[in-house]
Amino acid sequence: MPDMAALLAAVPTDLWIGGKQVPAERTFPVFNPATGEVLIEVADASAADGARALDAAAGAQASWAATPSRERAEILRRAWELTIALRDEFALLMTLEMGKPLAESYGEVTYGAEFLRWFAEEAVRVHGRYTHAPSGTGRIVVTKQPVGPTLAITPWNFPLAMGTRKIAPALAAGCTMVVKPAAETPLTMLLLGQVFADAGLPPGVLSILPTADAASLTDPMFADDRLRKITFTGSTGVGKILLAQSATRVLRASMELGGNAPFVVFADADLDAAVDGAMAAKMRNTGEACTAANRFHVDNAILAEFTAELTDRMSALTIGPGHLDGVQVGPLISEKQRSTVAELVRDAKEKGARVTTGGASVAGEGYFYEPTVLADVPADARILRAEVFGPVAAITGFDGETEGIIAANNTEFGLAAYIYTKDLDRALRVAEALETGMVGVNRGVISDVAAPFGGVKESGLGREAGTEGIEEYLETKYIALP
Ligand code: ADP
Repeated sequence: MPDMAALLAAVPTDLWIGGKQVPAERTFPVFNPATGEVLIEVADASAADGARALDAAAGAQASWAATPSRERAEILRRAWELTIALRDEFALLMTLEMGKPLAESYGEVTYGAEFLRWFAEEAVRVHGRYTHAPSGTGRIVVTKQPVGPTLAITPWNFPLAMGTRKIAPALAAGCTMVVKPAAETPLTMLLLGQVFADAGLPPGVLSILPTADAASLTDPMFADDRLRKITFTGSTGVGKILLAQSATRVLRASMELGGNAPFVVFADADLDAAVDGAMAAKMRNTGEACTAANRFHVDNAILAEFTAELTDRMSALTIGPGHLDGVQVGPLISEKQRSTVAELVRDAKEKGARVTTGGASVAGEGYFYEPTVLADVPADARILRAEVFGPVAAITGFDGETEGIIAANNTEFGLAAYIYTKDLDRALRVAEALETGMVGVNRGVISDVAAPFGGVKESGLGREAGTEGIEEYLETKYIALP
């Protein structure tokens, strides 16, 4: 593990604009959620910095789009290699600024870097088509072109991967990009700026602007007619604001918004596998993932057994600062997040839910909350409706397949769902009936660089990764020929 003080002394803390580090007039503090203490001060981008970054993006757009896709691919490939070479630094930075256990940070370095490699491979495979009009009056050429300068706004929960999942396809497609990382976790993205500079990315193609005041930076960018697209990962509430802002100038918009994933266990499921899957789907990232299992719907035939096993597993977890050996559960991102989780638990208890393990904040420094299982959660408990974003498993029973499907779909969200059953016919039937963009069948972790990630209903618009991801950064042009 790198030395913490040396790592923090070396990490870039200025803005990245035009391929260079640029200081800002102000700075803001980045905190360590395991202690509540300030880690470091980081440059705070102003509206004027936003305009400068858009100048750079607009200035570089034509030449970047005209750069042979093989060259764009080689730069992405080098960025992948350099990110992997810095895996220790990236992992420790993420654990320090976000709190997740070090092993999970290493997992994110692999996962996040993989988008750079994947889209290096996709960059050279953007296809069009050629056909004849059925009427015999002409020929039809369909070609793809980059959308143009794009603004990416990313969340704190996966500080690297939520950035690379947008930056890599944008660059592969020939778009320039300005990234505004979350104020909680700018360090990982600033180090990625160094990676791209070292990988030989031309100046202006990528700018990185942390700020403590997101709207002051990005509102004027939405009004700037050089911006062509917004790509956002974050809460549904903020996504709706950004969609409304996009409407003014009809920007292309990709939105990865909130989730409320049901984890449905049918009576015929392999119980041990279901509990393993439940632990992964619930506890990855300390529950702070938009794909996190939010509510557990378990057939009443196996409800008691499932609840007992999950309770045992949750109560055996080790909580602590993420950089320490053996820690499995880190702190939540902030005191605000911890009180949201505590309030959802309080509401469920008041309405009749039973706490079988956990149920309280951990005393002392940092924003820790105990891994918690709530049994007999009543239908009117808010925890079944709201995105928890914490280490709390809310369990409720159902009778039979139809009731399970209705319960799972009873939400305005539609990102991920998980089902456990040994019956293939049922798995297919239920997977097709679920109103979500992604379904895990007998699997608790589903994200994959080669698969399309995204939601339906109020969970968003568009898809990231897979062969679909690059399409979000491409326009379709039809050229009519005689
Ligand atoms: P979370 O609950 O994960 O913090 P948010 O939706 O609040 O989700 O934040 C996700 C990202 O959106 C962060 O980078 C945040 O700074 C940014 N953000 C929040 N509000 C706005 C806004 N009004 N305009 C632009 N960006 C915003």
